[in-house]
Formats: sequence, structure tokens, C-alpha cells
Amino acid sequence: MRRKIIAGNWKMYLTHSEAVSMIREFKELMRGVKTDYEIVICPPFTSLYFVGEELKGTEFKLGAQNLFYESEGAYTGEISPKMLTALGCSYVIIGHSERRKYFYETDDVILKKVKAAIEAGLTPILCVGENLEDRNKGIEKDVVRKQFEAVFGGLGGKDFDKIVIAYEPVWAIGTGVNATPEQAQEMHGFLRDLFKEMFGSDNVTIIYGGSVKPDNIHALTSMPDVDGALVGGASIKAKSFFEIIMNASKEGN
Ligand code: PEP
Repeated sequence: MRRKIIAGNWKMYLTHSEAVSMIREFKELMRGVKTDYEIVICPPFTSLYFVGEELKGTEFKLGAQNLFYESEGAYTGEISPKMLTALGCSYVIIGHSERRKYFYETDDVILKKVKAAIEAGLTPILCVGENLEDRNKGIEKDVVRKQFEAVFGGLGGKDFDKIVIAYEPVWAIGTGVNATPEQAQEMHGFLRDLFKEMFGSDNVTIIYGGSVKPDNIHALTSMPDVDGALVGGASIKAKSFFEIIMNASKEGN
């Protein structure tokens, strides 16, 4: 289903008490604000319970940044899908480029995680995106298509409509250099076409991630195929996350 979403990926920032302070300040700023965007907060595992308690009674959704694909077992250090749903999570980020790079997550593992998340009732936010070398070589669409097909082609025709795609060019993540609205539109349009080719409908949510800030969000979400944003660094401070939501929600989107 095509929706408007702004998700905050807090990465490995904020202790649980800092997280509570941040979310209280954010709720205060958002009091009385109306937006068409679904707002998703993805703190580290250690803050999920505390942030979840703060989000009770609000329209904001809780998400995790990762999961393991088994539902339980001897997997030291891992967190299962049902542990996340028990804490009130409804979303989970899967295949973030930092996990692909530092934790060697492959497309096969990512597919297993996506399947396990959906089975548990979580909405995966599936990250795809090329690195700078790929873009310089002009193969960014091939790279993104491969990542897309590994998951969407591996689902056996089921549940493809339960996934949110995040296009996150690796060269834009945490660098301060965002994709231009035109570059984002080009890749989002390409992804929507791939989805349509495979499933006969273009009804899929595609959000953009990579150095989204209050001053660039509006131009990005004004693009016809950009349905929102996955925000890293700028989602950790209540004020900047709030301003991103306000600017995205301005007339014209
Ligand atoms: C992210 O972590 O998904 C991200 C897009 O980070 P940043 O906004 O900091 O570039």
C-alpha cells in the first residue's frame, strides 16, 4: 500500500534515559500538530521498551533497527521478531547499508529477515542503495535492481505489498550530501517501475534516506515518487526531527 511515512533511525545513539528525554520533548513539540505522514521512531533495542511506553496513546509508531530471522533459540546476542512485537513495534528496518557493510549482511540474510518480520506482523522498511563507486561507474540502477530482486523475487509472489522500500544511497548517509531531488526521483521512479513490472501495480511506499535535514526535506518529498523519508542523524534531536515533519507537511506535497 502507498502511504506517507517519516521514520527516524536513531542508530546507536542515546541511552534509554536520553531517549526518554528526547521523546518527551518531541511529543511536546508535536502537540496539536496534524500531519499526513505516519511517524515511526526506531531507537536502539535498549530503548524500545521506554520509548514504547512514551508512545502509548499517541499516533506515533515504534520500530526496531534490526532483528534475527528465527523466532527463538540459542542465538546469543540476537533479538527475535516476536520480542519486538511484544514491545509494541510495528516496523523494523532491514538491510540498512551499515548492517550490510559492518555486519556482512547479504541479500539472502536480508530476505530471511524480511520474511520473518512479515510473518510476525511487522512492516519491514527494506533499505536499498548504491555506493559512490557504483554511481561513479554509472551502475547504480543495476545495483539497486539486484538488491530489490533478491528480496521481492524471493517472496514467491506473497506479501510484496507489506514492505516499505527506503532508497538510501550509501554516499548520502551521514555525509551531509543528500541526493538531489531529481536523483531521488529518478531512482524512486525506477523502483516503482520495477515493482509494477513484477506485481502489476505501483502501489508501494518508497521513502528516501541520506542526509535529510529540515532544509532539504520539502524539495525531496515534493517529488512525485518520494513518499517520505528515513532520517538518521537529524532524527536524534527533537527539534530537527519535528522541523523535518513540519516542512514535509507543508502545502504542495
Ligand atoms: C540512515 O541512517 O538511514 C540515514 C539516512 O542517516 P542520515 O540521515 O544521518 O544520513
